[in-house]
Amino acid sequence: MRVVPVPCLSDNYAYLVARPGASEALVIDPSEADSVARALAHEGLDPVAILVTHHHHDHVGGIEGLLERFGALSVYAHASDAGRVPAQSERVEEGRPFTVAGLEVRAIHVPGHTLGAVAYLVGDAVFTGDTLFVAGCGRLFEGTPDQMHASLTGKLARLPASTRVYCGHEYAAQNLRFAAELEPDSAAVRDKAAEVADRRGRGEPTVPSTIGEELATNPFLRAGAAAIRARFPAAASDAEAFAAMRAAKDVFKG
Ligand code: ZN
Ligand code: FE
Repeated sequence: MRVVPVPCLSDNYAYLVARPGASEALVIDPSEADSVARALAHEGLDPVAILVTHHHHDHVGGIEGLLERFGALSVYAHASDAGRVPAQSERVEEGRPFTVAGLEVRAIHVPGHTLGAVAYLVGDAVFTGDTLFVAGCGRLFEGTPDQMHASLTGKLARLPASTRVYCGHEYAAQNLRFAAELEPDSAAVRDKAAEVADRRGRGEPTVPSTIGEELATNPFLRAGAAAIRARFPAAASDAEAFAAMRAAKDVFKG
């Protein structure tokens, strides 16, 4: 499977996904139409559908422009996002896989950043929108800390460790500064930060990560780790440590 990250706006990623050798492609989270259309032309791909992880403008802003250029593409988003995703034609739900562009897609409902947030599992790649970032997680705009913790730990963290993670924003460097503050003795965090600095230095995206690397380095998947729990002594549970950590990240100046 081919995955092409498309940098959009200041730090967003849209993605093109296609079977090897195929010309039909999925577009995930088109922030803006121009960059995505240029990438499609450059890769020789024809879009057949748009998959949206959540309704925020920086993930759907390019839908209308792509429909103008390419005609009526199917637009997939969570059933509960109907009415707030432009031109949504398909209502996805967890437990109802679908096939598009010859690719089987599993939607995973991950409320927290928004209530209608979904991650899409396509082959061995998961597209996580603003739920799971490289070394971080999205802000809680609509969901509760418990919901986000369950979405991350109960769902995404349970995917096979080799699953490639493609997220919605390039926030890795800043996220790793927060991770290093929480786990200053972690060699995994140190190695990941070095790798990220390297990739950014070459102007490359830090995606994909893998679920295995995130389990080792992402503090928001590690609320149960002794080192993290020790940083939030007032928390009576992993979920409470997660909530305190998310609140600390909101005001972190890295
Ligand atoms: Zn968002
Ligand atoms: Fe976003």
